[in-house]
Amino acid sequence: MADTQSQYTAPLKDMAFLMNEMAATPANHEDLLFVLDQAARFTQKELAPINLEGDTIGCSLKDGQVSLPPNLKKAMQSYTQAGWMGISMPEEFGGQALPETLASCAAEILTSANHAFSMIPGLTISACRAIMAFGSQELKDTYLTKMVSGSWTGTMCMTESHCGSDLGLIRTSAVENANGEYSIKGNKIFISAGSQDASDNIIHLVLSRLKGSPKGVKGLSLFLVPEKLQDENGNWNKDNQVSCIGIEEKMGIHANPTCSMSFEGSTGFLLGEVNQGINAMFAMMNEMRLGTAGQGVGLSEHSFQKSIAYATQRTQMRSLSGPKAKDQEADPIIVHPDVRRMLLTQKVFAEGGRALSQFCSQLLDQSHEGDISKENAQLLDMLTPIAKGFCTEMGLESASHAIQIHGGHGFIKETGVEQLYRDGRIATLYEGTTGIQALDLLGRKILGTQGKSLMHFTKLMHKLCKENAGNEKQQDLLNVLAKYSKEWPELTMKIGGKAMKNPDEAGAASFDYLMYSGYVTLAYFWAKMAITAQALLDGDITPQDGELDKDFLEAKVLNARFYFERILPRALGHKSSMLAGMDSTMNITEKQFLSGY
Ligand SMILES: Cc1cc2nc3c(=O)[nH]c(=O)nc-3n(C[C@H](O)[C@H](O)[C@H](O)COP(=O)(O)OP(=O)(O)OC[C@H]3O[C@@H](n4cnc5c(N)ncnc54)[C@H](O)[C@@H]3O)c2cc1C
Repeated sequence: MADTQSQYTAPLKDMAFLMNEMAATPANHEDLLFVLDQAARFTQKELAPINLEGDTIGCSLKDGQVSLPPNLKKAMQSYTQAGWMGISMPEEFGGQALPETLASCAAEILTSANHAFSMIPGLTISACRAIMAFGSQELKDTYLTKMVSGSWTGTMCMTESHCGSDLGLIRTSAVENANGEYSIKGNKIFISAGSQDASDNIIHLVLSRLKGSPKGVKGLSLFLVPEKLQDENGNWNKDNQVSCIGIEEKMGIHANPTCSMSFEGSTGFLLGEVNQGINAMFAMMNEMRLGTAGQGVGLSEHSFQKSIAYATQRTQMRSLSGPKAKDQEADPIIVHPDVRRMLLTQKVFAEGGRALSQFCSQLLDQSHEGDISKENAQLLDMLTPIAKGFCTEMGLESASHAIQIHGGHGFIKETGVEQLYRDGRIATLYEGTTGIQALDLLGRKILGTQGKSLMHFTKLMHKLCKENAGNEKQQDLLNVLAKYSKEWPELTMKIGGKAMKNPDEAGAASFDYLMYSGYVTLAYFWAKMAITAQALLDGDITPQDGELDKDFLEAKVLNARFYFERILPRALGHKSSMLAGMDSTMNITEKQFLSGY
């Protein structure tokens, strides 16, 4: 278990439990778990130890070239040489074609240990997915093998100074040249790893507007714009007029450069159809959103690890029920119920979020294989904003608890928990803020499908309750779950009804709706985990790998109870808030907001 600032231990047992026991068809995934073990070893050895150094040294920009912290650059080279970049990519492009169920666990391990580092592979692989889905054969053949190997990396260029959430305002322009290529002009801001010195070329996916295209998102097209083009000798060193004109000073992820990029007539290649760029970009963004959900889970996990290590060592005051460590002057703080409350909160967010993430990965695998049913596609669409919005908010709460558990020492750099908070803070902002995820969930994903996507999920909840109707040990949890499975659609109908009269009603309810949905979604996974763990403990099923870890399984059952008794009731507060209507939010005028000054 981690006990110093640079240590991190991958939660392999929990990942094995999810992959082996909680899958739709339980099986022993020994081969995949072997790969995961290797990913854990690499991360623990190469990435966790340089997390602090990356934060301290940061990135620098000189003569248009960004330098990463030297050890991060080295780690990037080891990472790509070991072939980690392409583990989930198709073999035809040099990948290992391993499933997303594995790759998402590997990605969580990476981001948990070193958030700044993990963003480069995350963006590169998502860019590959967009090229695979929308690129011509020529573009695929030219770019994918290099990107999958990691010698070239990818970025996502959407944001401009006047537009972040509202991509319809994008001004970067594209003009078609006589040869069918395009000339891209404009400035993008906040581009993660837009320039860095760890790869030989950077492939930017740039949302732009073709001259004459309609205003708004319907006029956007997506272009592949390499930093360097091939010269007449076949070498990739011809300048493509792409430059980094600044990097941001920021709160966290100092080892990942956030770049202002200028495209000055750069050559671009169309991805997908003209004016369909937003759809193509969403192919990348949806994967990035699930990856960002993993950042939230990884943040809860690492926050828990640092906290439990501290709570078992730090001694302060005596237990309320009498001394526990009688040989010491005071008890370790883990004896105090309030410290346990925070530790368990972190733990249930990490493990519950991981179960949700793993379930989404199963659906994503079906989607990548092209055999996802319409029902499951809608389910994945609906779970994506829940996973992104809820898990990142919970990651932040976990990091905040980590600071609290460390007391004043948590506020001091040395313990490393303040870095966790600073680095993790971005996850609720990029890839669409929590507010945007909430609107997407309620508006597009649920009301937009007339509640069908939600019904697919509540059907799973009903099924779990029905199949375990005689399960005495978990009956109380199942009763609560059954109640929520009925209440969630009822609340949706009420909000939907109000929104028909005034759309601001949906906006006013959306954050609470997202949080309610998150708490209830995790309740489903916690109930399922408790049922599975209990069945293993009782010998009703045998463990897939033949090994029964009693403490791990008993902890699962206890943690599920903590989740249902101490965390899930928060959904009630969100229910009241969302039903309160918009008046108290919307009636105050801008002048009245400022009337106290
Ligand atoms: C470190 C970092 C890395 C980034 N990396 C990338 C990258 O690689 N590529 C890229 O393209 N971008 C990147 N971004 C940009 C990021 O995606 C945007 O900052 C984010 O989408 C929010 O946009 P904005 O900052 O313009 O905020 P705004 O859109 O101005 O939003 C401000 C506030 O208003 C709220 N809001 C806006 N519209 C609505 C609405 N309709 N309903 C309710 N609330 C609303 C938002 O939730 C937010 O709270 C990065 C940003 C940072 C800081």
